[in-house]
Amino acid sequence: PTGFESFISRVLLLERLREVNALLGFTRIESTSDGGGQRTRRAPIGRTSPTWVPATQVHGEGIFVEFSEKALVDWENVPAALSQEAELRRGHRGWRARRGLDPNSDFPGIRFALLHTIAHLLIRELALDCGYNAASIRERVYADTSDGKSQAGILIYTAAADSDGTLGGLVDLGKPANLGRLLRQALDRSRVCASDPLCAEHNPRTDSSLHAASCHACSFVSETSCECGNRYLDRALVVPTLQVTGAAFFTGT
Ligand SMILES: [Zn+2]
Ligand SMILES: [Zn+2]
Repeated sequence: PTGFESFISRVLLLERLREVNALLGFTRIESTSDGGGQRTRRAPIGRTSPTWVPATQVHGEGIFVEFSEKALVDWENVPAALSQEAELRRGHRGWRARRGLDPNSDFPGIRFALLHTIAHLLIRELALDCGYNAASIRERVYADTSDGKSQAGILIYTAAADSDGTLGGLVDLGKPANLGRLLRQALDRSRVCASDPLCAEHNPRTDSSLHAASCHACSFVSETSCECGNRYLDRALVVPTLQVTGAAFFTGT
């Protein structure tokens, strides 16, 4: 999209997308994605080890946005972004320590937090501007930078078993002119939250939480849409907020 050339390197429109979910077992009270990790025991679905498992297959469509590696690396080294990362990391350590987990592991990194926040802002914008049912749009964040990998993408897709998004609507919104407009609106909207200044001032270190400037009024999405329970979100990484102005990825758009 015009205006975003230096931030976004590629947009893929996925007209057909297939999501397969398989049921491998159950957990009680704590889920493995809830920080329970190795401690949580997964109950098997049968007395003997099964030779097949129940699965569902849903067809949908999606938009994959790949971000510029250079822009991301430059941004990751900005002092203000580094200090935001330190705050998020302290929140992460506190959160895990309170649950008796190793505080030093599993921090997904500042890149994940940035891409994740952008994905949420886009999902909300799609819902607000285009009438999509936000609960039927899902996200997938690709931000693994371990072992020399350099992932930098988000996938926004509809894979709900209803009619939303099976008619080419979402793919159409991914076309440059539409996506540019949606992104710009999403960024404008996210500068100020209805819960500001409380939202912008929220520091994950003080209450050992996993999100910074983020709340239900600005960047949370429904549980069915988010792949990690509305964690690791911070508007300050995307745009300047009332509290932090120097850590924004999108500057000069
Ligand atoms: Zn907010
Ligand atoms: Zn999410």
